[in-house]
Amino acid sequence: MIVDCAVIGGGPAGLNAALVLGRSRRQTILFDDNKPRNAVTSESHGFITRDGIHPQEFKRIAQAELSKYPDVTIEKQRVYRINKENEFFQVETEKGEVFTAKKVILATGFKEVLPEIPRVKEFYGKSLFSCPFCDGWELRDRPLAVIADDKKAFHMAKVVSNWTDDVIIFTNGSNVLSQEEQELLKSKGIRINDKKIVTLIGEEGMLEKIMLEDETEVPREGGFIIAEWIQAASFDSLEYTLNEQGGIETDNWQRTNIEGVYACGDTRIAGPTQLILAAGEGSMAAIAVNADLIEEKFNDEKQHN
Ligand SMILES: Cc1cc2nc3c(=O)[nH]c(=O)nc-3n(C[C@H](O)[C@H](O)[C@H](O)COP(=O)(O)OP(=O)(O)OC[C@H]3O[C@@H](n4cnc5c(N)ncnc54)[C@H](O)[C@@H]3O)c2cc1C
Repeated sequence: MIVDCAVIGGGPAGLNAALVLGRSRRQTILFDDNKPRNAVTSESHGFITRDGIHPQEFKRIAQAELSKYPDVTIEKQRVYRINKENEFFQVETEKGEVFTAKKVILATGFKEVLPEIPRVKEFYGKSLFSCPFCDGWELRDRPLAVIADDKKAFHMAKVVSNWTDDVIIFTNGSNVLSQEEQELLKSKGIRINDKKIVTLIGEEGMLEKIMLEDETEVPREGGFIIAEWIQAASFDSLEYTLNEQGGIETDNWQRTNIEGVYACGDTRIAGPTQLILAAGEGSMAAIAVNADLIEEKFNDEKQHN
């Protein structure tokens, strides 16, 4: 059987794409191995009607909604190869099964690579986060850290100061801030610590102190950390273009440079990353798939007349 669309990745981007496709009577297979970026956290904020929801509960509700649409099937397995053969895509899973699709939506997300600071993973998603717009409210008015050893330190510190007056930037020995940036931050009450971090201290994911190379311990109750972003999946046979941040480049309709391949959500790494933005992009990708299939149908018919 040839399905209309294979959606790879079942986070908010892929789930919403599948919803719009299912409602458009498109035969759709959604593949998901359930390893989302936000698996480290227990609350997702900022999605209207779902503020504070557990990420897996979000997914459960979404999958229940999809089950109403007979044209949508969910395959809970990883896709590891996609080949384009003539105008169709062969989608191969980890179990060796091969599915054929007219269109492919990539909604595979990204992964963060955290800086090598001892115990950092224990705190990430519980009291250390990457997006102030997602988790700043919960940390408001507390003594916060911005842990950043690259150029984004300046921007992140400015943003975080929106939620608390007590911000210290820890550059982890990188001295990454220019003189001008340091002066501006200090003039707004933001402190800078350029010492190397030895370890993070706290219990059950709740940060209490940051220990530095000179053995001083600085009390902090949470904060934000800059991580490196990498694609959660890559498909060698698809030669899509990447943007400067390593995200898949698309047009405004989520079309990549490969005909028939669309990308949405975090995998595009195109700016702020949030559930609601990913879901919106998924919807747009599905609309684009529909638009393209409709155009193909009518063009075919024109040629035959
Ligand atoms: C600590 C933390 C806290 C966050 N808090 C919030 C918040 O409060 N509010 C908010 O809006 N956002 C929050 N986010 C961001 C949010 O999680 C992401 O923006 C959102 O999940 C992106 O959705 P997505 O569908 O693009 O990708 P994901 O949610 O990452 O989903 C991608 C899915 O694709 C699957 N997949 C990947 N490769 C394959 C493959 N080859 N085959 C099959 N399946 C595959 C993955 O297993 C995963 O299930 C947070 C992120 C983190 C890390």
